[in-house]
Amino acid sequence: MKVRLTIAEYVIHMGSSGPYVFSRNLTDSSRGVLAAESVRHSRVVHSSETPNSVSSEELLEKEETGGILRLSSMVTSAAMAYASSALTSSMGTKQVQLSSSFRSKLPISFRSSCRHVAPTRRLHLRVSSSLQSMVSDMGRKAPKGLFPPEPENYSGPKLKVAIIGCGLAGMSTAVELLEQGHEVDIYESRSFIGGKVGSYVDRGGNHIEMGLHVFFGCYNNLFRLLTKVGADDNLLVKEHTHTFVNKGGDIGELDFRFLIGAPFHGLKAFATTNQLGLYDKIRNALALSTSPVVRALVDPEGAMEDIRDLDKVSFSDWFIGHGGNRSSIQRMWDPIAYALGFIDCDNISARCMLTIFAFFATKTEASLLRMLNGSPDLRLSGPISQYIKDKGGRIHTRWGCREVLYDHTEDGTPFVSGFVMSKATEKKIVKADAYVAALDIPGIKKLLPQQWRKYDLFDNIYKLVGVPVVTVQLRYNGWVTEMQDVEKSRQLTKAVGLDNLLYSADADFSCFADLALTSPLDYYKPGEGSLMQLVLTPGDPYMPLPNNVIAEKVDEQVKALFPSARGLEMTWSSVVKIGQSLYREAPGMDPYRPDQKTPVPNFFLAGSYTKQDYIDSMEGATLSGRQASARICEAGASLTEFNKMLPAMDPKVAEAALDFEYSTVK
Ligand SMILES: Cc1cc2nc3c(=O)[nH]c(=O)nc-3n(C[C@H](O)[C@H](O)[C@H](O)COP(=O)(O)OP(=O)(O)OC[C@H]3O[C@@H](n4cnc5c(N)ncnc54)[C@H](O)[C@@H]3O)c2cc1C
Repeated sequence: MKVRLTIAEYVIHMGSSGPYVFSRNLTDSSRGVLAAESVRHSRVVHSSETPNSVSSEELLEKEETGGILRLSSMVTSAAMAYASSALTSSMGTKQVQLSSSFRSKLPISFRSSCRHVAPTRRLHLRVSSSLQSMVSDMGRKAPKGLFPPEPENYSGPKLKVAIIGCGLAGMSTAVELLEQGHEVDIYESRSFIGGKVGSYVDRGGNHIEMGLHVFFGCYNNLFRLLTKVGADDNLLVKEHTHTFVNKGGDIGELDFRFLIGAPFHGLKAFATTNQLGLYDKIRNALALSTSPVVRALVDPEGAMEDIRDLDKVSFSDWFIGHGGNRSSIQRMWDPIAYALGFIDCDNISARCMLTIFAFFATKTEASLLRMLNGSPDLRLSGPISQYIKDKGGRIHTRWGCREVLYDHTEDGTPFVSGFVMSKATEKKIVKADAYVAALDIPGIKKLLPQQWRKYDLFDNIYKLVGVPVVTVQLRYNGWVTEMQDVEKSRQLTKAVGLDNLLYSADADFSCFADLALTSPLDYYKPGEGSLMQLVLTPGDPYMPLPNNVIAEKVDEQVKALFPSARGLEMTWSSVVKIGQSLYREAPGMDPYRPDQKTPVPNFFLAGSYTKQDYIDSMEGATLSGRQASARICEAGASLTEFNKMLPAMDPKVAEAALDFEYSTVK
């Protein structure tokens, strides 16, 4: 059977051994072959030769001479599906109809993609909320560690628990403990709660955020918390596509919108993305199809173990070692790695990246992004703190912990005897049955008693390092991301532009959004334009620069990405620098993350950096809080017995502990 079909710049040749696809316009770098051993002899061949003159035999000969890249037999049928879709998508923007014989060779799920429609280049404003739908069902075929079952009702003695740190981890711990009937006090050194996802209102009425926050559709622990506290309607669902903005306003998309769900929507997204060229997509297909992500489809627990084992290698090493290539890293993976961990693919562990991709591949909605409808203080931490108060919990802001007081029992077991706290000119020792440090990396390092470093669990924490990050907000007198209609971008009556998280490989900020569009309730201001929030990664070079210089540099880069914004004026700016934010998820660091239960029986840890199966994130912080609460409840009865044996604090020790100069704990 010989069928030849000419479509755009491609020619499909149905040889006796299967379909071949030739590309007429070729550069050396795009020379390659797409194939899958599962459907033997199916290939896409880039060749500068006139296709008509190349026979199957000549093709095979080329393979032998190395003129064509041969794919390994590891390539699975998933790769074939991917390849087929990649092929159809690269046929240009026209709808194309392949011959029925060729279509019949494609996997069923991809036959429909032979009719390829160009991805939409404009995103539509869509305001829908609620967590009733479009959340990945983590209850089914999901690793248990990531989505623990509901805790059993606690029946042990009521504990008085003191928590330091009122970020998401501290608040999640408090909610769980209060629901189990315990008494909870949270102490926060800052004047506002929320930690890294906190925000406050400045004198001009602007909400200043610690950073840009997006919620993946697999954040079930956080969604569970938001539903409890009645804040589930505060999330706006964005279009199911990941948008890359390239220099000059060129938009690339990783578009998950598809009739069929996981894993096909992911295959379709990667196959059709216009952020990568065909050759890069082929190399991506190779790497991803040989990753633990494929195992996750049938065996999520096993895949999680495989992913954990990949903590020792960087994502770049793993990706390139599995057939991926450098230009895919630069154009697509680096912005994503920066957004996830504030470091690039050469520095981030493969575990960190693959944890997310396993979700994307197996759960349809995992890659769907949500953003708050306004500022975190009003829409996230506010409702959680209200719930805590309604349940009888107490939150004490501006109360910083200066020291963890500790002693030993007669048999040498260490125990915490109190937290030394201060607020402006007040100071006190807080005593409790259980003590929780729900701090960030610099906070916990500063507070841990040095003598406790003889325990590996505590000593390992000092191997974790925080990554610097700088978040910039820029207000404009027009709409920065509106690139189609200059007139619209200049009016100030209606918010217009790209309503989603945006990535870029061409700027010092890897991810950003126009908050006036994405989170309008507190950021859209009548008579004003875009409020761009941009995350500078790596943040190191910007840390020493004055805020006005940073704002100007970022404004320049915004205008390089969006030429249509060149006439707009930046009318206001704010810069937030965090010297040590997320822990650096570098290769080999995961084993150093501490468990929530420690060698000190009445001292527990929470925080996104502590041991939990997710990455350092809002979801990880929430999960760590659930785990901390579970460990405390497990210890309930024995802890009460243990506490009964503890000697009373020597008044001289208490006096000495409070003998310090007043100063704010930062
Ligand atoms: C710029 C930026 C963007 C981000 N974007 C995202 C995102 O899009 N999606 C996502 O999921 N995650 C994101 N994250 C990560 C997420 O914000 C964190 O992982 C999470 O909020 C950490 O919560 P936590 O409670 O563990 O720690 P923190 O939020 O750091 O809370 C620790 C708290 O302890 C307090 N504290 C410290 N020392 C003391 C002391 N001695 N006494 C009393 N209190 C003390 C601190 O003030 C702080 O409030 C982002 C982070 C940043 C910085």
